[in-house]
Amino acid sequence: MIVNFPCKILVEKSVKGKVDTMLANMRLGDSCAIVCDSDVRKIIGDSVRDEISSSFNVDFVKPQSLEKKYLEALAKKVGDYDFLIGMGGGRVIDTTKYAAFLAGINWVSFPTILSHDGLMSSRAVIDEEGAKISLTAKEPEAVIADLNTIKRAPYRYIAAGAGDLLSNISAVEDWRIADEAGKEKYNSVIARLSLLGAEAVIEHSRHIRNKDVHGMEILFWSLLSSAFSMNIYGSSRPASGSEHNFSHALEKLGTKALHGEQVALGALISMFLQKKDWLKVKAVMEQLGLPTSAKEAGIERDTAIEALLLAPKIRERYTILDKYDITRKQAENMLQKVGII
Ligand SMILES: [Zn+2]
Repeated sequence: MIVNFPCKILVEKSVKGKVDTMLANMRLGDSCAIVCDSDVRKIIGDSVRDEISSSFNVDFVKPQSLEKKYLEALAKKVGDYDFLIGMGGGRVIDTTKYAAFLAGINWVSFPTILSHDGLMSSRAVIDEEGAKISLTAKEPEAVIADLNTIKRAPYRYIAAGAGDLLSNISAVEDWRIADEAGKEKYNSVIARLSLLGAEAVIEHSRHIRNKDVHGMEILFWSLLSSAFSMNIYGSSRPASGSEHNFSHALEKLGTKALHGEQVALGALISMFLQKKDWLKVKAVMEQLGLPTSAKEAGIERDTAIEALLLAPKIRERYTILDKYDITRKQAENMLQKVGII
């Protein structure tokens, strides 16, 4: 088994003055492009460009879409750079990750929003003809987190990042269940790495809610440990089970809530079925200000029911849902019991 990790991690209240030395020491080449939108460029992109121009030729690339066709064209455009820096939220990071992978060049993850654990992972979630697909790409060579910038993101995204981590609890239990059913070998060391992030969120929910620097730092390391668990295992299994199935089903039905909000809702149902302490997770979600009902997440009652019925069929991954054959009536009852509808 070959395991790839980012080589360097830079996390500071302010990374100003530290990015150039780190990247120069990594010998990534002479030229790079910072992939970011105009807002992020104003907030931090220009200052990073000024700093690193002493070591690299730097250009900016403004990402336009997550469509596979666009990313294939973008990969051709950026292929002559030695590396890319993806600076922004999940969409920009996925754009950079996949374009760099196709171009065969390195990339650096510079998240300005900590909304999910894909920010440092090797898998890219992109669009293909309207549908979301998850593809193997490449892990970043380095991850840079400027906590003061991350703090500026709207709180809803930060809470969603915490929600994505809470969902690791049901994902790990699904993994254990899959092992019991003889479907997939459970690895308790990797599972603990995934759970670490969820536990840290529970322990530090107050700091996260306050959006203080300590809370952002905890959230960053938690997302990183979750991403590591997936990178080590080689698939999203350690951090994605039936609760992610529910979220993927919701997306297919056209919902617009954030990934982290949807998977946290899904975790309540999954943990209910797994006979685990879903009430504890719900209490943490309330503390974090995450939606705990479909209505709060802007999801229609019927859509939530449909999604739960669709969830077992959404992909090939053995979960608690495979132990049940849920009828519409049962789905309705279950969603009512956990307070989602
Ligand atoms: Zn997730």
